[in-house]
Formats: sequence, C-alpha cells, structure tokens
Amino acid sequence: MLLGEPPPTQADLHFRLFGFPVRVHPFFWVVALLLGIGGGGPADPVKVLIWVAVVFVSILVHELGHAFLQRYYGGRPWITLYGFGGLASCNDCDRSPRSHIIILLAGPMAGFLLALALVATIRLAGHSVGLILASNAVILDEGGLSWRWVRPFVLFAADFDNFSSSALNLAIEYALFINILWGLINLLPIYPLDGGQISRELFTLGNPRRGIVLSLQLSVGAAVLVAAYGLLALKDIYIGLMFGFLAYGSYQALRAYQNHWR
Ligand SMILES: [Zn+2]
Repeated sequence: MLLGEPPPTQADLHFRLFGFPVRVHPFFWVVALLLGIGGGGPADPVKVLIWVAVVFVSILVHELGHAFLQRYYGGRPWITLYGFGGLASCNDCDRSPRSHIIILLAGPMAGFLLALALVATIRLAGHSVGLILASNAVILDEGGLSWRWVRPFVLFAADFDNFSSSALNLAIEYALFINILWGLINLLPIYPLDGGQISRELFTLGNPRRGIVLSLQLSVGAAVLVAAYGLLALKDIYIGLMFGFLAYGSYQALRAYQNHWR
C-alpha cells in the first residue's frame, strides 16, 4: 500500500517466504498492537495476540499476492511490512499498464481468496457459514475493531456456526473481517492505495498528463468523502485522520504536479 520503504533498523525481522525476501519493520508490530488495543476498555492480552497474528498473516498474504504476480511478469520482488500495511517492491518489474493493474489487483484478490478458503474450510468442518444482515452482526464488538465500522457501508456481514475453541472463533472472525475489509478499502480510488494506483493507470491510458491530474482529483475527493463520513457518521477519529491524511497527500501531489507543468 505505502510507497516509500522505511530505512533498516536493528529490530527488523528478516525471513524468506516462497523465495521472496521479507522484512518486518518494528512499526508494523506497534501499529497492529495499537489497533488491537484500540476501542477503549481493558484489552484482553490473548485477544490482542490473536489479532496481531491474524493481521500479520493477512497483510503478508496481501503482499504475496502482489509479489507472485510481479514474479510472474519477470520481476524479483521483496516484501516489506511497515505500519498498517506493506509493500511488494522490485527494481526489475514489468511497468506496462496492463501488468501493473493486474499486479495491483492481485493483493486484494489474495485476501478475498484467503477469506473464501476460510469459508470453505469452515463448511468442510461441518459448520455453517454465510452472510447475515450486518445490523444483526454482533461479532467482534468487544475486540476494538468491529463490524460496526462496516455496517453503514455493507448490508451483510459474514457469520458462522461457532467452534468449541473461543480462540479459533476469534481468529476466524478477525481473518474474515481483515481480509474482506482490507481488500475493499485498498480498492478505493485513493492514492497510494492499490485502487488509487489502478485508477491512475486507467486515467493515464488516454492522456498521461491530464490523467495524473484527474486521478489525483478523484483521490482527493474520495478521501475527503471517506474522512467526512468517518468523522460525522461513524464518529470515528481514526478513519477521519487516516483518510484526511491521504486526502492531504493527494492534494499536495496534485499541487506539486500542476506547478511542475505550469
Ligand atoms: Zn496492495
């Protein structure tokens, strides 16, 4: 999602997955922890631990989606997890609009596929799973992040027949929530989210210079709308701050671009 790579630190975690070098910046754990604790009230350490583990796996799967397609198009990517997101970067990646759009789509798609695999596994285990009216969804209400956030956006939420292990139930709830919601948020036409980069590729197909301006204007407008909605309708300062920050970033980029070409 984010474009700049953070400088290396002593606390970086390094490993290889499917041949891709992976680096986890310490801020990744800090942000995941803060989001897990957020929502007020005393945080249950087991819940927070499950939350952080599910965030880690989910964001890694999202970035792997990008990385596998980058490799498919001949690149040698590496993955960085940083903040509440990550990066799959490479120096030798195919930059043609078509392959770039497919690479960008692969991140959210990987998350949707994981959610789908999870639903299939729950079904195979003999438990029912499906969509229920979001207004009836009570899951996750104690966990900080909650389906309450998405209720105004979506009519339905995923629900399932609980297992005997409450830790497993929580992990499934978090995984469905993150992989579906994170994918949807990432598809918004807001820069530098995947959707914002896709919209820029599409806008610049016809006229590159005009396309960049149009995609950044769309990015500012969409981010302002989401920020206002978060603040006014959801009364959620985090959504307001995050999308306000993204709106400001796009506005700055737009100003810089227009000054450059004046
Ligand atoms: Zn992505």
